[in-house]
Amino acid sequence: MPCIIDPNHQMSQEQASSWKSLCGKTLFFGHNPFKSVQEAQNSSKPICKVCRKLAGLPPKEVVRPQFIPYVLYKAYQGELGIFYVTGETNTQFRTDVGQYLPKYLRSSDLYWVRSGSEASQVFYSKDMAEALAMAEKQLQQRRHYLQSLIDETVKLQTLLKQRQ
Ligand SMILES: [Zn+2]
Repeated sequence: MPCIIDPNHQMSQEQASSWKSLCGKTLFFGHNPFKSVQEAQNSSKPICKVCRKLAGLPPKEVVRPQFIPYVLYKAYQGELGIFYVTGETNTQFRTDVGQYLPKYLRSSDLYWVRSGSEASQVFYSKDMAEALAMAEKQLQQRRHYLQSLIDETVKLQTLLKQRQ
């Protein structure tokens, strides 16, 4: 980012091919410096941060793309959650109440883990029907798994009774 020539520096006044910048650097033609604060201000080119500060120019505005808040539905362990998302990172959603939701979440409860991949993981959607369907699927997987445990237990009980 080009510097601004310090017009009051001796070097800037005496020489035609090199100057001192406001931030103290020696500048040559190749540096393509701004000849004055005015020129820097009128230019759309970036300005050396230190020179900008020393010249009393306001810091450059950083234009961030505006985040449009939206409603997010969460299906996790058979329950439906509704959130108002006001921000997002690579790993989290931020809600209007300042809560952070991890985008990836896997249950540590073995009954959920063993029920199936959908049952053990969080699912998000902007579509309520989709999230509801996933919550239902999570419960079906869990029910199926728990039923298999009961079936197995009943079978063992039957076998044991036959021995008596
Ligand atoms: Zn500078």
